[in-house]
Amino acid sequence: MSSRQAITGIRSRVFRVPLEEPMQDARHGLQTYFELVTAEIETADGQSGLGYTYTIGTGGHATKAMIDHDLAPMLIGHDADDIDTLYDEMQSRLHYVGRGGIASFAISAIDIALWDLRGLRQNLPLWKMAGGAGKSPLTYRGGVDLNYPIEKLVQSVGGYLDQGYRAIKIKIGKPDLAEDVARLRAVRDRIGPSNKLMVDGNFGYDLDRAMAAGKAFEPFDLTWFEEPMEPDDFAGYGELAKATRVPLAMGENLHTLQEFKHAFEHSSLSFIQPDASNCGGVTGFLRVAKLAEPLGIPVCSHGMQELHVSLVPAVPNAGWLEVHAFQIDRYTLRPLVVVDGRAVAPDEPGSGVRFDWAALEALPIA
Ligand SMILES: [Mg+2]
Repeated sequence: MSSRQAITGIRSRVFRVPLEEPMQDARHGLQTYFELVTAEIETADGQSGLGYTYTIGTGGHATKAMIDHDLAPMLIGHDADDIDTLYDEMQSRLHYVGRGGIASFAISAIDIALWDLRGLRQNLPLWKMAGGAGKSPLTYRGGVDLNYPIEKLVQSVGGYLDQGYRAIKIKIGKPDLAEDVARLRAVRDRIGPSNKLMVDGNFGYDLDRAMAAGKAFEPFDLTWFEEPMEPDDFAGYGELAKATRVPLAMGENLHTLQEFKHAFEHSSLSFIQPDASNCGGVTGFLRVAKLAEPLGIPVCSHGMQELHVSLVPAVPNAGWLEVHAFQIDRYTLRPLVVVDGRAVAPDEPGSGVRFDWAALEALPIA
């Protein structure tokens, strides 16, 4: 190996990033902040790559501890460009205690930093390194809005249209299905028949209720019904797919390649939604995309739009980029660019994501 590329140091940090206003979905309670865990990897020649992951409020410190105590000592001295080998070694090392969960978040942060380093070294943007099929994905705005009264919900989706979005997702999962239907009807009326509409249940339903919901949602021409049930209930999704015409989607809570294989085998999904921050970084995302390709399943994303904008369009089976409600744009140097309902990936070498460290460091200590 070239000793210039040898990893010499890894610095990790945790930030608690406040949300402008509280957000709620069917399962995670009211959220007021998210955690950002960063990992900066240095190599012998003085180059530095940036990786990161995020949580919805818990687990950030455990992720940092795993990076510091379990991954960094193993990575020091290795060639930073040997990404596939390092990825498999990280998975093996954490398999016994992790196999998904926190381990997958920690590996994701490291893997993204390694890809950033590769791009900086080879002078290539991520969308080209990730396959180069395209750089401008179909894009939708995902709201986290189950706590909004119906008037505020309608006003908020109207705001998304004003911002140039042509596809919108809302949260569902009210205790009374009739309430979900009323919210959907109001939103469909507001956005009209030509804009796309998705719903996200955040596994608030069991199979019986999901079947009833799927039926009740059929008149609203939904692009997909996301995570109606527990993400591990792979066979349940298969049952549900048989009982409704509404296409099913999930993936943000699948953290290992094995889980994605189970989903492809049993769940009759119309869309898959890996999140590079929790399914193994760029490497994990691309491995999921490869599995989905021969099945003809479009690869979408969850959260982290500033990074996924370079991954979703790069693969041949590109699906939809989610623009998540977490306001990460306030802390990055390149706010997401959306033109005519499509985001545009950056052409800068590396991951294309650079944080405003001064803004992050000004936040209260996590
Ligand atoms: Mg979701």
